[in-house]
Formats: sequence, structure tokens, C-alpha cells
Amino acid sequence: MQDKILEVASLIRQSNYAVALTGAGISTESGIPDFRGPDGLWKKYDPFKVASIEAFMADPAGYWKRALERKLSTDAEPNKGHRALAELEKIGRLKVVITQNVDGLHQKAGCKDVIELHGTVRTAHCLECGKRYPREEVVGWVEKGELPPRCKECGGIMKSDTVLFGESLPTDAISSAMEEARKCDVMFVLGSSLVVYPAASLPDIAIQNGAKIAILNMEATEKDWIAEVVLHGKIGEILPKIVEEVKRKPR
Ligand code: NAD
Repeated sequence: MQDKILEVASLIRQSNYAVALTGAGISTESGIPDFRGPDGLWKKYDPFKVASIEAFMADPAGYWKRALERKLSTDAEPNKGHRALAELEKIGRLKVVITQNVDGLHQKAGCKDVIELHGTVRTAHCLECGKRYPREEVVGWVEKGELPPRCKECGGIMKSDTVLFGESLPTDAISSAMEEARKCDVMFVLGSSLVVYPAASLPDIAIQNGAKIAILNMEATEKDWIAEVVLHGKIGEILPKIVEEVKRKPR
């Protein structure tokens, strides 16, 4: 493991444009379950029954009830992994974080440049008039028993600003992420099973443009075979060691 930590640190040190691509696995140590890991939500729920736009439209109250259960609320705190990534950005060794996560924890940890591919839990909007509310406010209505929560202006049903299966990704986010994948010389993938597209195509785009890929994940991923270095383990334990190593030596 130590050799691989040194190898990734050296890749990052020598890079001119390193980007990170993160998935749900970087937030499990903050108490937010992932989808496909050993304790993932898909062991409990069928994704298309609970996280698709069709399922939402059929039963918005059920969706909001489960959202509370998933604790994907704004009170989660960043963990050592989020903070280590923010440190890497602060010392100028990381240009941008592209995330599939909707939890806002990279920003809470201090990352300034974050592309959110799948939207955010920080806000919700009315499906009728489009009015946006802070998610916390809407969750407060749900906690008081308002199911489904409704817009205070027009009474329309509220939907979280997260992207559900069957919805298209925010176009600005996906085009910026593709641009970053073409530009980078190192892409560091953390906590993603790399099975959800188009996010999973970003390492392919990066490699086609000459970048090197490093992967840190608890389990094997779909793309381990294209990576220069693969580390299997916990992000919160391994990433701070990589960042310390990057800081220890000059370029
Ligand atoms: P995924 O669930 O498919 O894969 C997560 C991966 O992370 C798994 O392979 C797992 O082994 C690994 N992992 C779990 N904990 C880890 C840890 N502490 N250290 C290292 N690896 C760890 O997640 P994905 O690839 O991001 O794709 C699924 C979708 O999940 C995305 O669309 C995302 O929007 C959504 N999602 C987001 C959140 C969140 O915002 N926190 C939570 C659940 C799901």
C-alpha cells in the first residue's frame, strides 16, 4: 500500500492539471450510504422503483419519506477524505472536483471549484412555478408531516434538485466536466463504482487525451484496468496520507 501511496502522490506532484472525480464512496464515512458498496442502498431498494422520475411522479410523498430515511440532508459533515481533497486544492495541486454526489460536502470542506453532475440536495424547486427553496426548509415541512411538501406560493409539489434516473443531467455541468476531462493530465477517481454514465465515461475521455488515471476505492471498479495506479481501501484513511506525501516533497 505504501508504494501505491507514493506512486499516486508522485503522479499528482508531477501533474500540471490534476482533477478529481468523486462518487458516493467518499461520503460513506460521513454517514451517508452509497448505492452499490457493501452497505449500499441498492441492497435494500430497487433503484428504478425509488430513484427514478417516474417513481417520484407516481408517489412524491413516498420519495420524501425515504429521502429523510436516507439522511441525505444538509446536516452531514465532511470527513477526512473531503478535507484532504480540499487541502490538495488549497495548495494548488488540484484544479477541480467533479462529483456525482449531491450532498454538498466538498464545498462544506472548503473546495472552491466543484462541478456537480447529479445536482444537489441543498435546494428543491416547485414543479409548477419553479420557485426554489433551501432543502432544509422543505425537509422541515416534511418532518412536520407535510407529505408531499408543497410550494408556499402556488401549492405545487416540491422536487429535490437532485437528478433522478430518467432525467437529463444539467447540461452546463456535463459539458464543463467533459472539458476538464479533456484538459487534465491526471484524473484521480475516488469512491465510485464507475458504472453510472456519463460520469463513468470521464476517465475514458481523460485517457484518450493522454491523462493518467489513479483510482482509490474500497472494491474493484469497472475501470481498474485502464488506471495507472489502483488502491483498494478507505478514502478517509488513505487520502490524507497521499496529501501529506504530496506536501512533503517539492515538485
Ligand atoms: P456507487 O454506490 O455506485 O459506488 C460507491 C463506491 O464507493 C463503491 O464501489 C464502494 O465500494 C466505494 N466505497 C464506499 N465507501 C468507501 C470508502 N470509505 N472508501 C473508499 N471507497 C468506498 O456510487 P457512485 O459511483 O457515486 O454512483 C452512484 C450514484 O450515487 C451517483 O449518481 C450519485 O449521484 C449517487 N449517490 C450520491 C450520494 C451522495 O451524494 N453522497 C449517496 C448515494 C448515492
